[in-house]
Amino acid sequence: MPSNVSAAAEQVRAAKSIAVLTGAGVSAESGIPTFRSNGGYWRTHRFEDLATPQAFARDPKFVWEWYEERRRAIAAARPNSGHIALVELERRAPHFTLITQNVDGLHDLAGSKNIIKLHGDIWTLHCVKCGREKLAREVLSDLPPFCECGGMMRPGVVWFGEMLPAGAMERAAEAVRNADVLIVAGTSAQVYPAAGLIPMGRTVIEINPDRTSFSDDVTFSLQGTSAEILPQLLG
Ligand code: NAD
Repeated sequence: MPSNVSAAAEQVRAAKSIAVLTGAGVSAESGIPTFRSNGGYWRTHRFEDLATPQAFARDPKFVWEWYEERRRAIAAARPNSGHIALVELERRAPHFTLITQNVDGLHDLAGSKNIIKLHGDIWTLHCVKCGREKLAREVLSDLPPFCECGGMMRPGVVWFGEMLPAGAMERAAEAVRNADVLIVAGTSAQVYPAAGLIPMGRTVIEINPDRTSFSDDVTFSLQGTSAEILPQLLG
């Protein structure tokens, strides 16, 4: 184990309160492509065509077909050792908050409990008319799906240019400010306001195979994958 990983693990062991911010990279080793890496969704799709309220208003069926394709790919994915290490960390730490930008539900599937989902959840449907939320993991054959009230349902995710779920950012910021250690795993830290949480951390441990704009400023910049490094932080 490289010495900076052991030093970071020491800080994690000593922490009474831990916050974790995860991004798409944490699910890469479960076979779910990230947004910006090679083979990522946005290399093959223009986000303006898919993940905006305007795109949905223009062509809901097209947007839904893409989401349904992603839902089916994600349904086949399983949590990896990085997700599982975070469950164990939650079990050990007196205070633990997992803040995720991911919409895939793999943290829930692994068993994490105290999760703040900044960008929603791909398994939730949201009625654009009555606001009803519905959990639906099944294959949606008739697209777009409709609510019992007659309104159209949309994916329960936050699209580009939309507000985050009410209170989510405030709760996340409070958890980060109160944490002795903030672990930042698998995020390019380019999407705001989520990335704005990183400078709020006291001791910050970043895990990423690549460098980010925060790598020079964090306490520990651990170069490697989350499935490899997160279990090592458990010591
Ligand atoms: P991103 O694609 O911008 O960045 C992914 C980061 O993960 C990169 O910095 C990359 O170097 C790193 N990475 C790649 N493989 C890794 C690994 N094995 N271990 C650790 N790190 C690895 O993703 P982002 O920062 O989360 O931000 C973009 C948006 O993408 C978010 O809003 C999120 O909602 C959305 N998104 C979610 C999923 C998902 O739910 N799984 C998938 C794609 C995109």
